[in-house]
Amino acid sequence: MTPSLFIAGRWTTGSGSRSGPVLDPSTGEEIGRVPFAEPADLDAALDAAARGFAVWRTTSAFARSAVLRQAATLLRERHATIAEAITREQGKPLSEAKIEVLGSADHVDWAAEEGRRAYGRVIPARDRDVTQSVVQEPVGPVAAFSPWNFPVSQLVRKIAGALAAGCSMIAKAPEETPTSAILTVRCFEEAGLPAGVLNLVFGVPAEISEHLIASPVIRKVSFTGSVPVGRHLSQLAGLHLKRVTMELGGHAPFIVGAGVDPARVAEAAVRMKFRNAGQVCVSPTRFIVHESVFDTFVEVFAAEAATLTLGPGMDAASRMGPLAQARRVDAVEALVQDAADRGADIRTGGHRAHNQGFFFEPTILANVSRAARVMNEEAFGPVAAVNPFGSLDDAISEANRLPFGLAAYAMTNSLDEAERLSSGIEAGMVSINHAGLALPETPFGGIKDSGHGSEGGMEGLRAYLQDKFVTRRYA
Ligand code: NAD
Repeated sequence: MTPSLFIAGRWTTGSGSRSGPVLDPSTGEEIGRVPFAEPADLDAALDAAARGFAVWRTTSAFARSAVLRQAATLLRERHATIAEAITREQGKPLSEAKIEVLGSADHVDWAAEEGRRAYGRVIPARDRDVTQSVVQEPVGPVAAFSPWNFPVSQLVRKIAGALAAGCSMIAKAPEETPTSAILTVRCFEEAGLPAGVLNLVFGVPAEISEHLIASPVIRKVSFTGSVPVGRHLSQLAGLHLKRVTMELGGHAPFIVGAGVDPARVAEAAVRMKFRNAGQVCVSPTRFIVHESVFDTFVEVFAAEAATLTLGPGMDAASRMGPLAQARRVDAVEALVQDAADRGADIRTGGHRAHNQGFFFEPTILANVSRAARVMNEEAFGPVAAVNPFGSLDDAISEANRLPFGLAAYAMTNSLDEAERLSSGIEAGMVSINHAGLALPETPFGGIKDSGHGSEGGMEGLRAYLQDKFVTRRYA
């Protein structure tokens, strides 16, 4: 088995004998195994992260930035190989995987630069012999849990912010997609990161999170994944008084106003919805379309979705790959069936596809009951639900109906509508007339049940810094 755990600067298969299968989602076949970390390995990683932090926090921000920039260069140089590993294990089209890796390199570069600007401030004192300042210090070793939908970029966002701030990290990357995470961590290793600053483990997620979060070494927990797991990890973190960043699920509304060209918007909606087969936390799911453009929108949306070529991500002709796991196909199929049972029109798709692998057709549902599960639960798959609205107030109240609050989209040619939408929608990110989310320089995160805290932007760096007030008397 490939040594896949990176602990204290060494690659190892760990101290135990447990491992998990790695599947090719386009065939369902096992293509590898990943070794699991045991408690002794986690203890070694904790010890390494504590030592790594002692070294890294005292390395100058300038020197840290140079290491990170070199890691970004290596990610770019190796992006084709890393992208192939993503596609083989996660399934997305290779072109999307390449964009993911190149975008991740941009994240590392941006955090590397921003880490040099972790400025404090000076507060005027009441006495002329006294100085008062606030300095920004790294919070300490971080336990990070990243998911399988973007195996590289979700991991890199955490690594980039934490390391740029001067923290060390134990990352638990997804067991389903280990190889691209391993290749990514190698870029940081070969860029010259001191041993112990970044550690990588795989294993039984619940065992690892309970072990790491309880340790006094860990000062911060960062998780990206589902709401139930986020809730559980927040409870553990609360018990042990650890800071958290929670990037959880979403159920993004996509509002289409009365004055837009519905066909053009529908074409853009296809590109946004079916990227990564809809396995994106900011994927638009509830399409709320003004009644005057509803029929044309649905018609073009369904016709365009039906033209997407479904196939293995390695095949250059594929516009949409398989879902990442068999359990996602089961989940999506159940949501579609439930919606159909409650009267929704299946305008295209609705079925599993191909006779091997985890394929599900791009699916558009129209006139879907609000009671349908797909209108309330995160679909995390290639399913869109389209419903008409009459007044903008109704559209906004539908957008805000769910406990989620991650991304929201709106298409409008009215300034007044744009203003009402941007102020009225309860979401961490509102994107109007384009799909401009998740850039290195902008904050990415949710509100309500979608979590709290941001990755990216100066907010993403702040998440790994804590304030220290220092006052000094001279005379
Ligand atoms: P899941 O809830 O079992 O797991 C979600 C993620 O959390 C996985 O990466 C998993 O390894 C990790 N995890 C699970 N239990 C954990 C624990 N006790 N400690 C630490 N990590 C743990 O669901 P799944 O079947 O893997 O994914 C499906 C759902 O997850 C989707 O419906 C979606 O809501 C959510 N999800 C969200 C994102 C996101 O970007 N926000 C990414 C992946 C999955």
